[in-house]
Amino acid sequence: MPRTAYVNGRYLPHGAARVHVEDRGYQFADGVYEVIHVRRGRLIDAAPHCDRFERSLKALRIAEPMSRAALRLVLDELLTRNGIANGLVYFQATRGVAPREHRFPTVSRTSLVATAKHLKALPPEQLENGVAVVTVPDIRWRRSDIKSVSLLANVLGKQAAVERGAFEAWQVDARGFVTEGTSTNAWIVTAAGEVVTRPLNTDILAGIVRGLLLGLLEDRSTRLVERSFSVAEAHGAREAFITSSSSFLLPVTWIDGIAVGDGRVGPVTRELRRRIMAHVESQST
Ligand code: PLP
Repeated sequence: MPRTAYVNGRYLPHGAARVHVEDRGYQFADGVYEVIHVRRGRLIDAAPHCDRFERSLKALRIAEPMSRAALRLVLDELLTRNGIANGLVYFQATRGVAPREHRFPTVSRTSLVATAKHLKALPPEQLENGVAVVTVPDIRWRRSDIKSVSLLANVLGKQAAVERGAFEAWQVDARGFVTEGTSTNAWIVTAAGEVVTRPLNTDILAGIVRGLLLGLLEDRSTRLVERSFSVAEAHGAREAFITSSSSFLLPVTWIDGIAVGDGRVGPVTRELRRRIMAHVESQST
């Protein structure tokens, strides 16, 4: 089935989908985006993604491109036109097209672009053996809570990871504490059995899977602590993992070339992934 993209009210062949050269997303990264997982043709956790999209727009004072209900119709139509059962839907809104000047244009219409793609099942070895991460300095601006399309620091971080043979980079603040991955939230399980992730503020994105997992852990069977953890603490962790909408939860078994615990995927990580996937299944049936 040929791919179809949505651009400002039109469904177009993916290869022919274009925005104007003076779109402020292209010129200034003046826009925000979302990525939602699709399972059996259904959007997983669409409501919190739409909430975050609206929060990001509001933070940058970009007008909503359309109502939430209309956006849902566009996304569903895109899934149908692309025949997506399991995949990802991406959408981004920018401050629109205007002559290139830094200040907000007095007149502009929010641009909305959306694409969808199929996802293959995760490589079984990633789940069985875990993945490697490396640490890099967090060189991003100070509003990482906004899901802005300005991802240059994340791109450089991920590239550094790839060049060092790792799957993801954990970004580290000036005090030596891990903020988050380049497209994932970071978690460790300490030797004392605490599950630790950085608390929400402007330093990290409020990951939807992060929020989901916190909600699932409210039954108190797991000791959960929202606090910052240092690179040294991560190196000494018993288990570690990352969360994101594209792969939900992936075990981390190497950090900076150091084995996490005994270097194998641990029981807490396995149990938390099982709980997340049960939630995903319940949403998609
Ligand atoms: N942190 C960053 C910087 C991200 O880009 C992402 C996802 O793209 C996440 C965390 C995970 O967020 P979510 O669980 O909403 O996919």
